Amino acid sequence: MLDRDDQEIMLRGIGVSPGICIGMAYLVDKEGVDVIKRYSVPETDLENEKNRFKTAVKKAKDHLNGIIGNTPEDFRDHTDILETHAVLLKDKMLYGKTIEIIDQERINAEWALKKVVSDLQTMFKNMHEPYFRERAADIVHVSDHIMRNLVGAEHANIKDIDKRVILVANDLSPAETSQIQLEWIMGFVTDLGGTTSHTGIIARTLEIPAVLGLDDVTEVIRNDDLIAVDGSTGEIIIHPTEETLVRFVKRRIEYEAHKAIIMRGSCLPAETLDGLAVQVMGNIELPEEVVSVRDHGGDGVGLYRTEFQYLSRSGFPGERELFDKYKDVVEVMMPKPVTIRTLDINGDKAVARHSEASEKNPALGLRGIRYCLKNPDVFKTQIRAILRAAAFGNVKILFPMVSGHDEVIEAKRMLDEVAESLSKEGTEFNRDIEIGVMIEVPSAVIMAEVMAEEVDFFSIGTNDLIQYTLAIDRGNRHVSHLYQPLHPAILRMLRHVTDVAENTDVKVFMCGEMAGNPIYAPILLGMGIGELSMNPQSIPVVKRMIRSLKVEDARLFVKDVLKETTAERITKLLQDSYGDMVSEFII
Ligand code: PEP
Ligand code: MG
Repeated sequence: MLDRDDQEIMLRGIGVSPGICIGMAYLVDKEGVDVIKRYSVPETDLENEKNRFKTAVKKAKDHLNGIIGNTPEDFRDHTDILETHAVLLKDKMLYGKTIEIIDQERINAEWALKKVVSDLQTMFKNMHEPYFRERAADIVHVSDHIMRNLVGAEHANIKDIDKRVILVANDLSPAETSQIQLEWIMGFVTDLGGTTSHTGIIARTLEIPAVLGLDDVTEVIRNDDLIAVDGSTGEIIIHPTEETLVRFVKRRIEYEAHKAIIMRGSCLPAETLDGLAVQVMGNIELPEEVVSVRDHGGDGVGLYRTEFQYLSRSGFPGERELFDKYKDVVEVMMPKPVTIRTLDINGDKAVARHSEASEKNPALGLRGIRYCLKNPDVFKTQIRAILRAAAFGNVKILFPMVSGHDEVIEAKRMLDEVAESLSKEGTEFNRDIEIGVMIEVPSAVIMAEVMAEEVDFFSIGTNDLIQYTLAIDRGNRHVSHLYQPLHPAILRMLRHVTDVAENTDVKVFMCGEMAGNPIYAPILLGMGIGELSMNPQSIPVVKRMIRSLKVEDARLFVKDVLKETTAERITKLLQDSYGDMVSEFII
């Protein structure tokens, strides 16, 4: 066993968000609910054991009622689910059965609860009705709450951290990551996750250093350990020596200085040396991030991932709340465009009402447009808010996870229905907006020609397109080395979509992470992609790269690239031709 107190330890993971931070570790302890032990309870103690369970349930109930009571009147529709949970706490099948099992089997409350929940889950999951499957998710939620009270573990609440720390976690969900308070959290490191996981994307947008995929960092780092993190190289140092600290501080100074230089040209237009103007836009997850797009010189918001307003809460936001947020973003960006993508929940962004537990394979599940078409009330509420916000600026609407023509037709039909009802009510709105589809499922690439008749623009989502084409889970560190934007299959798909766009009146944009890496700009421009949307902090560097290119050269270069048959050879070709140029911009 290492004597870790005075020994420096170096670990390497996947650097997903650049920057350096040095500080105390804060371990995000995940409930401890998974390590429940079974033990017998003597008959004389059974009454106490049952009371212990009842107290845990009461505590959970008081907690829920406290939240419901403190929710302002206007938001009361969001507390429905909490009320359902409060009722479930005392449900016969859960409450009554757990007490019965403690009694009959003379076992501890935790184990009895675990057993009851497992039986209930199996029962609900085998039912085909989605309603019952959702109830299974509710039961897990409720029982976790009771279990936390039983084992005395505090629920990790990132929002409540109020000291300057670096988070260390097994995994952080996108919902948890979006709760990070920049004032306190300097950076984070996790056991799981990869570059294009949403957790990584949010870290880049928040501009905090993050290293993911470290395997067992939570086993090695202890609370309050001093750690140094380099989000560019993926290096983590635990108990850094004085020498290491000096090296990291020096790196931080260099990084900040470099960033300042890059920022200087951020407001200049992205125009190639031979006069092609490219729109360089920002991706946002939360409305407040629009300021970052503006400050980094973005030409608009190319992707507003609206689902984050639906995470970390028990109910769905109402039209008023959505409208207010969209209007804020649109007004800050005016007259520049804002592309609002409709809800892309599930996949790795599960909502509380539809927990991941209910889908074995969420990336291939009821995600994005599929979810919306199955839940027209949720979809229409959002579309109403979008069309209303469109009356206040330059808005485009974008449908995610589209796999074919019929989904676009159906989504547009709902859009028309919403517009008609807004018009009947006399509510101010604007239906005259551009409509786009994400090209992120391989079938959408193949169907691009047909879909072109229905839409104004394509927005290529390489994060998912690569995941689904190469069969690589974007959040799985074990296959992250196979996640290759330069795979010839991907480049041929891009070529197909850009060819379709050129032969029709449809515009073609890119909003996946590939757009934010300056080394890919020659290929993307050479293929004719007219708008690139990315994490706000990548905007200045990509603009700089574009200003150093000639689009004519890039077009010829693409021809050479498409002759190559492996990602390795394409990477070499790109490095040989443009590597020096990029190394001037990037540390
Ligand atoms: C993508 O898939 O490339 C994309 C932009 O969407 P998201 O990352 O939100 O899935
Ligand atoms: Mg996607």
